[in-house]
Amino acid sequence: MTRSIRCAKVAVLAPMETPLDYLVPDDLAVSVGDHVWVPLGYAKIRGLVTEISDTIETEFKLKPIAAKIDDEPVPAASLRFWLWAAGWTLTAPGTFLKGCLQALKTPKAQIKHGFVRTGAEPVKLTSKQMRVLEVAVLPMSAAELAQAAGVTVGVVQTLEKKGYLERVEFTTQGFDAPDPDFMTPTLNDDQAAADRLLEMEWDRQVFSPVLLDGVTGSGKTEVYLETVARALRDDPTAQVMILLPEIALTTAVMGRLKRRFGVDPVQWHSAISPSQRRRIWEGIARGEARLIVGARSALFLPYANLKLIVIDEEHDGSFKQEEGVRYQARDLAVMRAHQEGFMVVMASATPSLETLTNAQKGRYSWVRLEQRHGTAQLPDIDLVDMKAHAPEAGPTGDKWWLSNPLVKEIEATLARREQVLLFLNRRGYAPLVLCRACGERMTSPKTDSWLVEHRATGRLVCHLTGFSMKKPDRCPHCGALDSLTSIGPGVERILEEVRERFPAARAEIFSSDTTPDADSSAALIKRVEDHETDILIATQAAAKGHNFLNLTLVGIVDADLGLKGGDLRAAERTFQLLAQATGRAGRAEKAGKAVLQTYSPEHPVMQALKAQDREAFYAYEQMSREIAQFPPFGRLAAVILSAKDNALLNRFGRELSLAIPNTEGIDVYGPADAPLSLVRGMWRKRFLVRADRNRDLQGFMTAWLKSVKTPNAIRLVTDIEPYSF
Ligand code: ADP
Repeated sequence: MTRSIRCAKVAVLAPMETPLDYLVPDDLAVSVGDHVWVPLGYAKIRGLVTEISDTIETEFKLKPIAAKIDDEPVPAASLRFWLWAAGWTLTAPGTFLKGCLQALKTPKAQIKHGFVRTGAEPVKLTSKQMRVLEVAVLPMSAAELAQAAGVTVGVVQTLEKKGYLERVEFTTQGFDAPDPDFMTPTLNDDQAAADRLLEMEWDRQVFSPVLLDGVTGSGKTEVYLETVARALRDDPTAQVMILLPEIALTTAVMGRLKRRFGVDPVQWHSAISPSQRRRIWEGIARGEARLIVGARSALFLPYANLKLIVIDEEHDGSFKQEEGVRYQARDLAVMRAHQEGFMVVMASATPSLETLTNAQKGRYSWVRLEQRHGTAQLPDIDLVDMKAHAPEAGPTGDKWWLSNPLVKEIEATLARREQVLLFLNRRGYAPLVLCRACGERMTSPKTDSWLVEHRATGRLVCHLTGFSMKKPDRCPHCGALDSLTSIGPGVERILEEVRERFPAARAEIFSSDTTPDADSSAALIKRVEDHETDILIATQAAAKGHNFLNLTLVGIVDADLGLKGGDLRAAERTFQLLAQATGRAGRAEKAGKAVLQTYSPEHPVMQALKAQDREAFYAYEQMSREIAQFPPFGRLAAVILSAKDNALLNRFGRELSLAIPNTEGIDVYGPADAPLSLVRGMWRKRFLVRADRNRDLQGFMTAWLKSVKTPNAIRLVTDIEPYSF
């Protein structure tokens, strides 16, 4: 006899290719988005219900769902987006969802604390103890854990004592509703015109990607906040997400949002504590948290009723996740808006080539703000040809890095009691240390990259792995005493020169070393605003977002820096960084000036900057990308292989290259040594896949990579639309 039964597809939090089928017991009320325990082999495992259907019982005996977990269900639209994003990034759905559910690792509000597995390697554990560790992927109370693993609570307590489980505490608080009309600004004419265009787009209530394009200081933020207000006003349950590049920016924007909407927006970035994470995650899933400001990972929060996404500084490289599951948050955000039919605003003074091309081709609306707010003017830009103006040597014979034309400008600026920003995108004192006696370069033991000297701490640091060592007195290679020489400048070295040449000026460094967290960077920004600093020497930490009204000179110490290295976005990135950095000058009534030190003043990037001719730069860059059929004219993906055993890696690389399917419109290059071929003791190789725009890149990759079995000793990572290579 057959009967109708209810089945569920469950994406288990494990690297399974697809969701698995389970029976829904008659007495269990589950819906899509619910968290459940299901049997898998001999273990029980967590999962999310992705589908429910009525079916006729077949000869296959489905196992029933074991229990429902009392966690906030994932809203259907968010779940759909996560599963789509898993497919897009070629990630197993369970692996992807596990990442999205990270916040639930801290326990529920009702329970004061719970337990979750630590990173400790299991050594000599009983099978009962192992079962507990298998289920302890997300925190549960001791009783819940014991029940799920079929053991007594005593086993859980023992594991905590042994350091295999850790206790996590939790706090609760509500969310205040933002007031769209708390303080409405008076827009200037340009801003009002831009706002009217945005309003028209908004009123269509369909998928509508918009590039909000305007020079730094033109009031883009002011304008997009009106669209945010509109979204909050039109629907009292609407949620809005504002994506920002990084924490440093968050501090400044948070204050502005609070003044505009009367409440602290909900923040989401790496510095948010685990206990807050669960509270925020649940608040968003329930639709209570409505105004969310975050870094790229905020894209994967469980929004219940998302109605608008804003991506500020949309060109910024930090929207690209480069570890674990690799994704481009901007692109996926546009996809989410597309899936649900709402508006996405991308703001930038220097749009990515992708976004600009989409705007030019009419795929995105293009709203422009031409003027700076008030009387602020764009800075004059001087190129200093370093071939003709090589800096002189200092009194001790040490090389100096600031050319005479730049020094003269600094003197004049200081004499007017105005401030200077010297920009050099290099942390530390010197990027290379070598031995004068034997020529040995100091390199990181686990990578082939140079160790960077940090004089403030007296250490040599690998910026890639974090490895550091005290700077030795003797060359570790030949043993010569005091023979280690610092080559090239970092910000610390520029500070040294500035102190020597402008002893009366107050100078300090703005980099992730001097401002490791939001508080210290806020304090530094305040010191600059209060004019307690005359000369700020900054890495990219200061290149964007801040309004320093009295800062009228920007000196770019090495404008050529980003042009070296020959990667896809080198020129674009350099142009954006320099345009942003020079945009720091003269943001108020005072006229600003920027001085660029370069050895190649004839390079199109430098010429476009000097002429402030953004379109010329983009046209040049578009042409070179179009010739190669690289993004945005074609699509790219990378496959990165790594292994401890270089011979195995070479063999597997050859095997994979023989298996490349011959497909029209898709080219595969490689395997080549990855840009850093040895990282953390692992050898790396890389394939680059280029596809015409209309090809199924993911389908090609899946078919290709499935056709060869990857040995366990090799790690294979895919990267759709790699940022650099
Ligand atoms: P962008 O985002 O384009 O860099 P902002 O929105 O940050 O520009 O505006 C630059 C500065 O001008 C900010 O300090 C902002 O407060 C101020 N500003 C912009 N528009 C207005 C306005 N309509 N009224 C008052 N101040 C404004």
